[in-house]
Amino acid sequence: MNEGQDSAEGERAGKAAGRAAAPARGPAGSESRLAMVRRARRTYRALGEVYYYAHPELDFENPFELLVATVLSAQTTDLRVNQTTPKLFAAYPTPEDLAAADPAVLEELIRPTGFFRNKARSLIGLSAELRDRFGGEVPGRLADLVTLPGVGRKTAHVVLGNAFGRPGITVDTHFQRLVRRWKWTAQEDPVKIEAEVAEIFPRKDWTELSHRVIFHGRRICHSRKPACGACPIAHLCPAFGEGETDPEKARKLLKYEMGGQPGQRLKPPPDYPGRPAPPLGAPAAG
Ligand code: SF4
Repeated sequence: MNEGQDSAEGERAGKAAGRAAAPARGPAGSESRLAMVRRARRTYRALGEVYYYAHPELDFENPFELLVATVLSAQTTDLRVNQTTPKLFAAYPTPEDLAAADPAVLEELIRPTGFFRNKARSLIGLSAELRDRFGGEVPGRLADLVTLPGVGRKTAHVVLGNAFGRPGITVDTHFQRLVRRWKWTAQEDPVKIEAEVAEIFPRKDWTELSHRVIFHGRRICHSRKPACGACPIAHLCPAFGEGETDPEKARKLLKYEMGGQPGQRLKPPPDYPGRPAPPLGAPAAG
């Protein structure tokens, strides 16, 4: 099914039912698989209009920096990582440098990201592996990346998608929550979620899909209080009403550029419509 055709058919079905985005229902009242796939693809396109500037929210200049930043991003915000990495990358620009780091010095540098002892161990370990097994380069294959200490499938996909242009679906906490709210899958295991969502979208869209979904999760469709009343894809969402539906109250829940606040990157891409994040120690985001 081509996307234009999918869109036209979806709109026709919506008009026939008297609403813009009426999902087709199967015999048991549940949405058919085909209708869900159409709705999912329309959601992807609608998110693309809202977040035309969607991008990875970690600052990096090369695959090694992205790998390190992604390992540091576990259990913390990308903002905190971006505020921490400038000093880190200045001190240890290559895998060889980081492999030879004094653990106590490294721990101090990355302390703001939390779990700094484990993360320091992973960074030194993965850097030594890059030096010894991969000629000091980050490998561009999933099978190799996941053999590195502290690197799982999610981290590997972030690196492959954004530093190597190899499409991948990043199933982080936002992605898991949103695709389940949208009933694209009922799975709970990240690997199964990845597999089911991969069936819905062409491979070329996987990385961009990840960015758009994660952007929406961070800005509007929050875990505890989604801002449904200010949500531009509410008409496509079966979970509308799970959060705040009053438009004025919902608007106050918006984050980053959507809420008039700085973003997460200190060096955002040129098309980013918001303000860059402040460096570490600067006054907190408004
Ligand atoms: S309508 Fe609510 S639950 Fe649905 S995507 Fe928007 S914010 Fe999330």
